[in-house]
Order: sequence, then structure tokens, then C-alpha cells
Amino acid sequence: IKPSGNISIGIYEGEQEDSLQKRLMLEMALRKAIEQEEFYLVYQPQVNLTSGDVVGVEALIRWRRPDIGVVPPDQFIPVLEEMGLIQQLGDWIVQHAAKQQVAWKKKGVSLRMAINLSPVQFEQMDLPDKITRLIAETGAKFSDIELEITESLAMHSPETTIRMLKSLREEGFKIAIDDFGIGFSSLEYLLRFPLDTLKIDRVFIKDITRGRSDCAIVRALTSLCQGLGLTTIAEGVETQRQRDYLDALGATEIQGYLISKPLESNELIQFIADFKKN
Ligand code: C2E
Ligand code: CA
Ligand code: CA
Ligand code: CA
Repeated sequence: IKPSGNISIGIYEGEQEDSLQKRLMLEMALRKAIEQEEFYLVYQPQVNLTSGDVVGVEALIRWRRPDIGVVPPDQFIPVLEEMGLIQQLGDWIVQHAAKQQVAWKKKGVSLRMAINLSPVQFEQMDLPDKITRLIAETGAKFSDIELEITESLAMHSPETTIRMLKSLREEGFKIAIDDFGIGFSSLEYLLRFPLDTLKIDRVFIKDITRGRSDCAIVRALTSLCQGLGLTTIAEGVETQRQRDYLDALGATEIQGYLISKPLESNELIQFIADFKKN
């Protein structure tokens, strides 16, 4: 305690201690969560605009924290990345998503399964081998699995990344670039990375029916992707008007609350059954 009696500094330090303590509690809870498998996956449908069918789902992680309830990934994935625990959870996600894809297929529901990969997972040089082995063990067909990466992946060593993605793609996995932006670097990655799919970020979809510029960006992206032979998936589609615009602008698929929020596996099966009836 400083003799000057400056209260504001005292409060500030108190707050810092508070958040440090919170962070330590979170880290402890996360270690336990990994041991006890407190995680589960939800699945968000993706619809092809030409056929109108659900052709795939994206697996999204949730944490059912016993004392608190369901925690969204934004609140724990970055922490797991910093703690170096994302590799462990990442393996679990890959296994479970692929197993689920196979289980649905046995029930006659054949959907492409998209799995998110953190850039930190690519720090493991054996990642392509490991993913290939984990998914082979489930019996899933590799071409039914799409691996979603983000642009930030290429910030550090694009050459290594490109090599790893190439070997995964040669095995038959599909590769999608997620949260695609429009920086110069983005376009460079688009041309240099081995890709099958580009996911157009929600920021461009949000005001697509209002502003001419977002419309122009999406039009440019879809026609560029058509030229490159890539599938485009528009994210965060919430209204029928957005869907109509995207259809007219040439997007391949849409994903968002207009179709469905992310669903647990039994809900997804029900959703597909109801969807076919309509
Ligand atoms: P993302 O990969 O961009 O996932 C899309 C996010 O948008 C999901 O949030 C989804 O619930 C949400 N969303 C879907 N449709 C709509 C819509 O129409 N409107 C709005 N406003 N939002 C929509 P979620 O599940 O909270 O995931 C957040 C982020 O956490 C993901 O963003 C992804 O970066 C990360 N994440 C989620 N699951 C995993 C995972 O299994 N592994 C890794 N490494 N990251 C994950
Ligand atoms: Ca994603
Ligand atoms: Ca995304
Ligand atoms: Ca995102």
C-alpha cells in the first residue's frame, strides 16, 4: 500500500488480481474438463442452393461446465491454445466428429462433416499423419471429411503449412478456408493453398441486402471461386432475403440460423427427417 493513498491504483491492482484468479480457476477447470470429457459437439447444417438439400454439417465444440452450464468455444478455445492443450482436445474432436459421420451414414443419413482445426494444432509436424490415422480408425471415408483452417494459419510458415495441407488433400480430405477476408494476403493464400472450399465470413453477409459494396465483394469472391473450381459457403445467413441475394450472386452453399442453429446429434437426425418432408 502506497503512502500517497492513491485509491484508484489500489482498485486497479485489485481488479488485476481478480482477473488473474479467474484465469487460474478457468485453467484448472479446463484441465479437469479434458480429463473428464466434459465436451460435446453440436452440428450446424449446410444447404446447397441449387438442390436445396442439406449436404453437410459443421461440428462446433461446446463445454458443459458442471458448475456453470454450457460455455461457448470463444471463451475456452483461445485459453486451451495458450495452455498447449488444444492438441489433446483437437484429437478428441476429430475422432468424435468422424465417428458421428459414420454413425449417421449407417442410419442412411450421409453428410459431409466439417471439422475446425486451430492454427496451433499445425505446430505438430505429425498432424497430417495423426489426423489420417484417427479418422481411418473410425472407418469414415476421407472425402466425407472437410477440414476447416483459418487464414492466420499461414502467418508464420506458409511453406510448411502448404506441405501439410497438400498431404492431407492427397489422402482425400477436403480443405476449407474459414472466415475468409479480403486482405491482399487472403487472396495470395487463396491462390497458393490447396483448397476445395471457401467460407465467406459473416461480416460480408450481414449487410448484403443493404450495401452495394458487400454485394460486390461477395459477387467477386463467388466468381473468383468458380474460376478456381472452389465451392463457396456463405456463413451466418439469417434471412430469406440474404439467401435470395446469395443465390443470385452465385454462392454454392449457405449455413446459418435461417436453416438451423447448431444441433445435438439426435436433434440433427430429426431435423433432416422434417426437412425432407417440407
Ligand atoms: P466459426 O468456425 O466461424 O463458426 C461459426 C460460428 O457462427 C459458430 O459459433 C456458430 O454457432 C455461429 N453461427 C452460425 N450461424 C449463425 C448465424 O446465422 N448468425 C450468427 N450470428 N452466428 C451464427 P460458435 O459455435 O460459438 O463458435 C465460435 C468459434 O469457435 C468458431 O467460429 C470457431 O472459430 C471456434 N470453434 C468452434 N468449434 C471449434 C472446434 O471444434 N475446434 C476449434 N479449433 N475451434 C472451434
Ligand atoms: Ca468454422
Ligand atoms: Ca467461420
Ligand atoms: Ca468466426
